[in-house]
Amino acid sequence: MSIQADYKRFLEILAQADDLQRSASILSWEKHVSMPRPGARWRGAQMTTLSTLSHERMTCVELGRLLDSLSPWAETLEYGSDEASLIRVTRRLYERKTKIPLKVAEELASIRNDTYFSWIRAREANDFSVMVPDLKRLVDLHVRVAEIWGYKEHILDPLIDEMEPGFTASSVEKLFDQVRPTLVNLVRMVSGSTSQVRTDFMSRDYPAQQQLAAGAEALKTIGFDMERGRVDVVVHPFCSMFSPEDIRVTTRVRPDEPTGCLFGCLHEGGHGLYDLGLPARLFRTPLCESPSAGIHESQSRMWENLVGRSRGFWETFYPRYRALFPAQLSDVTVEEWYRAVNRVRPTPTRVEADEVTYNLHIMLRYEIEKAVYDGKVKVEELRDVYNDRFMEYLGIAPPDDVRGVAQDIHWTEFFGTSYQGYTIGNIASVQFMDTAMKANPALRAEFSRGDYSGLLEWTRQNVHAYGAKFSPDELMVVSTGRQLDPKPYIDYVVGKYTDIYEL
Ligand code: ZN
Repeated sequence: MSIQADYKRFLEILAQADDLQRSASILSWEKHVSMPRPGARWRGAQMTTLSTLSHERMTCVELGRLLDSLSPWAETLEYGSDEASLIRVTRRLYERKTKIPLKVAEELASIRNDTYFSWIRAREANDFSVMVPDLKRLVDLHVRVAEIWGYKEHILDPLIDEMEPGFTASSVEKLFDQVRPTLVNLVRMVSGSTSQVRTDFMSRDYPAQQQLAAGAEALKTIGFDMERGRVDVVVHPFCSMFSPEDIRVTTRVRPDEPTGCLFGCLHEGGHGLYDLGLPARLFRTPLCESPSAGIHESQSRMWENLVGRSRGFWETFYPRYRALFPAQLSDVTVEEWYRAVNRVRPTPTRVEADEVTYNLHIMLRYEIEKAVYDGKVKVEELRDVYNDRFMEYLGIAPPDDVRGVAQDIHWTEFFGTSYQGYTIGNIASVQFMDTAMKANPALRAEFSRGDYSGLLEWTRQNVHAYGAKFSPDELMVVSTGRQLDPKPYIDYVVGKYTDIYEL
């Protein structure tokens, strides 16, 4: 067959695999948003069937044959071209996936579904031990998968590489070591600061309807296209992309916690802006994705923190926000609000954590996950270890399991591979923002008018447009001129909180 015919067939198989996977993800979204609980049993089976079919397409002998026949041609093309990138990235996926026996892939999908529902039950019972048996099965299976993929240094390496191509346990730890002293020192300095942040108004009653209206207004401000997306309320917010024309943002609402819904919208909206900016011509291929969880996170953190928690954002957004809560905020100035949404304090819940303590939540999770793989901690001991380590890092004890070890959905899918992406994302977000500001000095003036279109445009051209063509490291170099570098991030947090707390 000719190269053209092979390439056409190659695209067809990738499209089928992608359609099946996106369909499974629609079922997953529906499970979180609106499914009646008893549907769980059958939904798990339906999702497993679709995921298995997708896995079969992505690992079929024909795809392997096409990769072999197309690879010599791809090598003659430019590294960053659509075709060369697609063949290279698919080869990597194919090799990883074909190593996993179908039975193991099926088992993984089914254990994930079981663990999700035991997590829901654990939260209802406020008892982590409810999910321990399923979590143990999930961890055991992760060990099996890691062994199948193989590793040189640490069993976590192949699992981390799946989420963050190119990263290893040791490179993640090196990054943590570079930012940890600054953060620990900042927490100490803030707690010793005499500068007070007023927060009495934060626990007033903020009705859900107005909170959702504020979230929608914030999404509009950052340029999220409601014609191609929607927002729903869930237990644990996430963002799903079903196509470049259909992005689903989710958020959560609690009347006594106005920032949860708002920053949830900005965070998931940031993920959504990324998905909306991915190259639609590459849809139904593995390139219409982010190269890694951490790079995806850099976009959500950029909009949530670097924009949404900035003084400039609130100077223009606060009048609209206050109009939705006239009674609750009548005695609150914009400066008081800005400082309140940036208050640094240890909080049990990761998603509510401020920018200074947030990465400590991540590091402690990563460390206890690694300890499980090192055989130093058993799954049934996770609650105690988590509580002790939390006390050590943040100086407070989690009040219960729901606000402690069982708070996150992550362990229903992955164990030991999903948290480091947040810190990588935080660091990358500042590096991207820094580069954008230097490339386009007019952005500052635009921000002061509440206009973020220039920033969005920069990320569209320099991050989103590449999809998953490059590894995270390659992308950092292509879009910022250098590899991931914690320095801009450290300067940012130190500068911001020195100002707020007059350190
Ligand atoms: Zn996120």
